Amino acid sequence: MISNDPNLEYDIKDGRLTTAIQCPSPNANERPQGQAVNLLVIHNISLPPGEFGTGCVQRFFSNHLDASLHPYFQTIADLKVSAHLFIERDGNVTQFVPFERRAWHAGVSSFHGVENCNNYSIGIELEGCDDIAYTDAQYDALAKVAQQILIAYPEITPERIVGHSDIAPGRKTDPGDAFDWARFRQLLANK
Ligand SMILES: [Zn+2]
Repeated sequence: MISNDPNLEYDIKDGRLTTAIQCPSPNANERPQGQAVNLLVIHNISLPPGEFGTGCVQRFFSNHLDASLHPYFQTIADLKVSAHLFIERDGNVTQFVPFERRAWHAGVSSFHGVENCNNYSIGIELEGCDDIAYTDAQYDALAKVAQQILIAYPEITPERIVGHSDIAPGRKTDPGDAFDWARFRQLLANK
Protein backbone atom coordinates (compact mmCIF):
# COMPACT_ATOMS: atom_id res chain seq x y z
CA MET A 1 0.00 0.00 0.00
CA ILE A 2 1.14 3.52 -0.74
CA SER A 3 1.18 5.65 2.37
CA ASN A 4 -0.12 9.17 2.47
CA ASP A 5 3.33 10.76 2.32
CA PRO A 6 2.89 14.55 2.08
CA ASN A 7 5.93 14.65 -0.19
CA LEU A 8 4.37 12.24 -2.63
CA GLU A 9 4.69 13.51 -6.18
CA TYR A 10 1.38 13.45 -7.97
CA ASP A 11 1.61 12.96 -11.72
CA ILE A 12 -0.57 11.60 -14.51
CA LYS A 13 0.81 9.29 -17.20
CA ASP A 14 -1.26 7.41 -19.76
CA GLY A 15 -4.45 8.34 -17.98
CA ARG A 16 -3.21 7.03 -14.66
CA LEU A 17 -2.24 8.82 -11.50
CA THR A 18 1.26 7.49 -10.92
CA THR A 19 0.93 7.47 -7.13
CA ALA A 20 -2.48 5.84 -6.97
CA ILE A 21 -3.12 2.24 -6.03
CA GLN A 22 -4.44 0.69 -9.25
CA CYS A 23 -7.56 -1.44 -8.76
CA PRO A 24 -9.08 -1.97 -12.23
CA SER A 25 -12.88 -1.97 -12.45
CA PRO A 26 -14.83 -3.76 -15.19
CA ASN A 27 -17.51 -1.08 -14.84
CA ALA A 28 -16.18 1.24 -17.54
CA ASN A 29 -16.18 1.65 -21.29
CA GLU A 30 -14.91 3.96 -24.00
CA ARG A 31 -15.97 7.57 -24.10
CA PRO A 32 -17.77 8.69 -27.27
CA GLN A 33 -15.26 9.10 -30.09
CA GLY A 34 -13.60 12.51 -30.04
CA GLN A 35 -15.21 13.39 -26.72
CA ALA A 36 -13.27 15.97 -24.71
CA VAL A 37 -12.92 15.46 -20.96
CA ASN A 38 -14.15 18.73 -19.51
CA LEU A 39 -15.87 18.15 -16.15
CA LEU A 40 -14.75 16.94 -12.72
CA VAL A 41 -17.41 15.51 -10.42
CA ILE A 42 -16.91 15.13 -6.65
CA HIS A 43 -18.85 12.39 -4.85
CA ASN A 44 -18.91 10.63 -1.53
CA ILE A 45 -19.36 6.99 -0.68
CA SER A 46 -18.85 4.78 2.35
CA LEU A 47 -19.71 1.12 2.73
CA PRO A 48 -21.52 0.32 4.87
CA PRO A 49 -22.78 3.92 4.98
CA GLY A 50 -20.92 5.83 7.67
CA GLU A 51 -18.21 3.20 8.12
CA PHE A 52 -14.74 3.91 6.86
CA GLY A 53 -11.68 1.90 5.89
CA THR A 54 -13.63 -1.30 5.34
CA GLY A 55 -12.31 -2.09 1.86
CA CYS A 56 -15.90 -2.58 0.76
CA VAL A 57 -15.89 0.33 -1.69
CA GLN A 58 -12.99 -1.24 -3.55
CA ARG A 59 -14.84 -4.54 -3.68
CA PHE A 60 -18.07 -2.83 -4.74
CA PHE A 61 -16.41 -1.08 -7.68
CA SER A 62 -14.79 -4.39 -8.63
CA ASN A 63 -18.09 -6.32 -8.48
CA HIS A 64 -16.77 -8.40 -5.60
CA LEU A 65 -18.91 -7.08 -2.77
CA ASP A 66 -20.31 -9.89 -0.64
CA ALA A 67 -23.99 -8.96 -0.29
CA SER A 68 -24.38 -11.22 2.74
CA LEU A 69 -22.08 -9.05 4.85
CA HIS A 70 -24.57 -6.24 5.48
CA PRO A 71 -28.29 -5.65 4.78
CA TYR A 72 -27.49 -2.47 2.85
CA PHE A 73 -25.24 -4.37 0.49
CA GLN A 74 -28.21 -6.38 -0.72
CA THR A 75 -29.73 -3.16 -2.10
CA ILE A 76 -26.65 -2.31 -4.15
CA ALA A 77 -25.02 -5.64 -4.91
CA ASP A 78 -26.29 -5.78 -8.48
CA LEU A 79 -25.28 -2.23 -9.39
CA LYS A 80 -22.42 -1.88 -11.82
CA VAL A 81 -20.68 1.35 -10.93
CA SER A 82 -17.22 2.81 -10.62
CA ALA A 83 -15.34 6.05 -10.32
CA HIS A 84 -11.97 7.07 -11.64
CA LEU A 85 -10.59 7.71 -8.15
CA PHE A 86 -11.42 6.95 -4.53
CA ILE A 87 -9.80 8.98 -1.75
CA GLU A 88 -9.91 7.32 1.65
CA ARG A 89 -10.01 9.09 5.00
CA ASP A 90 -6.22 8.84 5.32
CA GLY A 91 -5.72 10.41 1.90
CA ASN A 92 -4.77 7.22 0.12
CA VAL A 93 -5.89 7.30 -3.51
CA THR A 94 -7.10 4.29 -5.48
CA GLN A 95 -7.72 4.43 -9.23
CA PHE A 96 -10.31 2.15 -10.79
CA VAL A 97 -10.58 3.50 -14.33
CA PRO A 98 -7.99 5.32 -16.49
CA PHE A 99 -9.07 8.91 -17.09
CA GLU A 100 -9.34 8.34 -20.85
CA ARG A 101 -12.06 5.79 -20.28
CA ARG A 102 -15.64 6.34 -19.18
CA ALA A 103 -16.27 5.43 -15.54
CA TRP A 104 -19.84 4.84 -14.38
CA HIS A 105 -20.26 7.30 -11.53
CA ALA A 106 -22.79 9.99 -12.48
CA GLY A 107 -25.87 8.08 -13.64
CA VAL A 108 -28.72 10.20 -14.97
CA SER A 109 -27.14 13.63 -15.01
CA SER A 110 -26.81 16.90 -16.83
CA PHE A 111 -24.43 19.87 -16.77
CA HIS A 112 -25.23 23.10 -18.63
CA GLY A 113 -27.80 21.21 -20.67
CA VAL A 114 -25.48 18.39 -21.72
CA GLU A 115 -26.76 15.06 -20.46
CA ASN A 116 -24.95 11.89 -19.44
CA CYS A 117 -22.02 13.46 -17.63
CA ASN A 118 -20.14 10.15 -17.57
CA ASN A 119 -19.33 10.75 -21.23
CA TYR A 120 -17.21 13.79 -20.56
CA SER A 121 -16.33 13.81 -16.86
CA ILE A 122 -13.86 12.43 -14.37
CA GLY A 123 -15.40 11.17 -11.13
CA ILE A 124 -13.70 11.27 -7.75
CA GLU A 125 -15.24 9.59 -4.73
CA LEU A 126 -14.32 10.82 -1.26
CA GLU A 127 -14.79 8.23 1.45
CA GLY A 128 -17.43 9.85 3.60
CA CYS A 129 -20.97 10.98 4.24
CA ASP A 130 -22.88 14.16 3.50
CA ASP A 131 -22.84 15.26 7.14
CA ILE A 132 -19.44 14.11 8.49
CA ALA A 133 -16.48 16.44 8.03
CA TYR A 134 -13.91 15.23 5.52
CA THR A 135 -10.35 14.85 6.76
CA ASP A 136 -7.42 17.20 6.20
CA ALA A 137 -5.67 14.36 4.37
CA GLN A 138 -8.61 14.09 1.97
CA TYR A 139 -8.64 17.81 1.16
CA ASP A 140 -4.89 17.72 0.64
CA ALA A 141 -4.97 14.66 -1.60
CA LEU A 142 -8.00 15.91 -3.53
CA ALA A 143 -6.41 19.28 -4.19
CA LYS A 144 -3.16 17.69 -5.39
CA VAL A 145 -4.97 15.21 -7.58
CA ALA A 146 -7.31 17.84 -9.00
CA GLN A 147 -4.38 20.07 -9.81
CA GLN A 148 -2.80 17.33 -11.89
CA ILE A 149 -6.12 16.58 -13.58
CA LEU A 150 -6.54 20.24 -14.52
CA ILE A 151 -3.06 20.23 -16.04
CA ALA A 152 -3.71 17.03 -17.99
CA TYR A 153 -7.24 18.05 -19.01
CA PRO A 154 -7.17 21.84 -19.38
CA GLU A 155 -10.79 21.97 -20.52
CA ILE A 156 -11.66 21.20 -16.90
CA THR A 157 -11.56 24.73 -15.59
CA PRO A 158 -12.18 25.41 -11.88
CA GLU A 159 -15.75 26.41 -12.79
CA ARG A 160 -16.23 22.93 -14.25
CA ILE A 161 -15.58 21.16 -10.94
CA VAL A 162 -18.94 20.26 -9.44
CA GLY A 163 -20.64 17.96 -6.96
CA HIS A 164 -22.76 15.01 -7.91
CA SER A 165 -25.68 16.95 -6.38
CA ASP A 166 -25.09 19.71 -8.96
CA ILE A 167 -25.51 17.41 -11.95
CA ALA A 168 -28.24 15.18 -10.50
CA PRO A 169 -30.25 17.58 -8.29
CA GLY A 170 -33.12 16.01 -6.41
CA ARG A 171 -31.63 12.57 -6.96
CA LYS A 172 -28.17 12.87 -5.42
CA THR A 173 -26.94 14.86 -2.41
CA ASP A 174 -23.23 14.07 -2.37
CA PRO A 175 -20.67 15.32 -1.53
CA GLY A 176 -23.08 17.00 0.90
CA ASP A 177 -22.99 19.97 3.23
CA ALA A 178 -19.89 18.54 4.91
CA PHE A 179 -17.80 19.26 1.84
CA ASP A 180 -16.12 22.65 2.19
CA TRP A 181 -16.01 23.94 -1.37
CA ALA A 182 -14.30 27.19 -0.37
CA ARG A 183 -11.53 25.30 1.40
CA PHE A 184 -11.05 22.96 -1.55
CA ARG A 185 -11.03 25.76 -4.11
CA GLN A 186 -8.53 27.74 -2.05
CA LEU A 187 -6.23 24.72 -1.74
CA LEU A 188 -6.52 24.15 -5.46
CA ALA A 189 -5.66 27.77 -6.26
CA ASN A 190 -2.73 27.84 -3.84
CA LYS A 191 -0.90 24.84 -5.24
ZN1 LIG B 1 -22.22 10.42 -6.22
